[in-house]
Amino acid sequence: GSRPLYLGIDFGTSGARYALIDKQGAIHAEGKRTYPAVGQSTNWAGSWREALFHLLGDIPSVHRPSISSISIDGTSATTLIIDRNNGELLAGPFLYNESFPDALPMVKSIAPANHTVCSGSSTLCKLVSWWNKHYSNGGDDSAILMHQSDWLLWLLHGKYGVSDYNNTLKVGYDPEIGSYPSWLMSQPYSHMLPSSIRAPGVPIGPIKEDVRSQYGFSNDCVICTGTTDSIAAFLAARTTDPGKAVTSLGSTLAIKLVSRVRVEDARFGVYSHRMDDQWLVGGASNSGGVVLRQLFSDDQLVTLSRDIDPSSPSPHDYYPLPKSGERFPVSDPDMEPRLEPRPDSDAEYLHGILESMARIEARGYKLLKELGATPVEEVFTSGGGAQNEKWTAIRERVLGVPVRKAEQTEAAYGAALLALRGATTGK
Ligand code: ADP
Repeated sequence: GSRPLYLGIDFGTSGARYALIDKQGAIHAEGKRTYPAVGQSTNWAGSWREALFHLLGDIPSVHRPSISSISIDGTSATTLIIDRNNGELLAGPFLYNESFPDALPMVKSIAPANHTVCSGSSTLCKLVSWWNKHYSNGGDDSAILMHQSDWLLWLLHGKYGVSDYNNTLKVGYDPEIGSYPSWLMSQPYSHMLPSSIRAPGVPIGPIKEDVRSQYGFSNDCVICTGTTDSIAAFLAARTTDPGKAVTSLGSTLAIKLVSRVRVEDARFGVYSHRMDDQWLVGGASNSGGVVLRQLFSDDQLVTLSRDIDPSSPSPHDYYPLPKSGERFPVSDPDMEPRLEPRPDSDAEYLHGILESMARIEARGYKLLKELGATPVEEVFTSGGGAQNEKWTAIRERVLGVPVRKAEQTEAAYGAALLALRGATTGK
């Protein structure tokens, strides 16, 4: 037979992608499905299910019997309430960015100050808001909470109550002690939480027989725990040593650093995800490519960048923001964008903006270090800005560490690495 393959599927905000890799990480097939048009009455769960099974059908049938394992990542804090008696959707999905401020006072009254659950869009706020509306007088015990990736994986393996320590962070799971804290377990809805929390990329069980036979997967194909989409995108870069980091230069500027030490600071929106025995510390600025896009087309960015000399520091000191308000690396909800004075030369202007964003990035890594994280040693880059070699050179000078483009940046690739891990370490 042919060599074993590992399947990762990413459920992002606009569509789903798959990547099929071998043990060496080489991609054998990949594909994408967008969700049907978004509207008021969008049946999100139905669209995700459809995308999942369409993607399975898109995988060339010659590869399917070789697939040893499957893992799926989903958007963080995307939540469904399911009836465990029949698997039916009782409520939701509540999307990653949907906020439930009605639940905040109750959540803040039970959680430690500044805990990650103390944000209106956290999974716990979604759960508490739903609980207050439906079961405040006590209800039946069959309703359970699933994250988006738990639910999609469940469609493939059929076991209730399984999740991973990345997805459950925003419902209050403590990955350091490996359990839910007592302030959460004492709540009347605690029985709704996933009960079996594993590391990402750990085997859950065999693929369901009906799915297996319909698509022609092998009898040995196992379904493995997943993670969140941003962790999967980080994993794609394969940089798991302390001090290694990934900066994402997309619409926003986000940094993620592998650290020996867990750091959290709600003022800056900084928190840590567990990654085996290490921590993945993250922070996101409101600055980023969205500001570039307001000023220049992508073609202009390419042509103007040609005239930039990255070895000479720009004298311009801007703070590019799409609107007022910044959180990381400066916590100031009233901060105003600073994009002036604008020089006559567009190339000079762009140079100043790219250099100013590099300073924000450097300040971000400096702040993580000040909060106690392992100092950054090397930066990989993902997102649209990663293509800009002049910017990379500017950043290398400003950050003072090697900077290069990440070879793989798709979350689906990171999910495939989790499947690989589940198949090769779990047996
Ligand atoms: P997202 O998925 O977060 O929307 P992408 O990763 O697709 O973003 O990156 C898009 C961003 O990259 C845009 O905001 C754009 O301004 C920026 N971008 C595109 N090309 C370049 C370039 N050559 N130099 C710098 N930035 C660029």
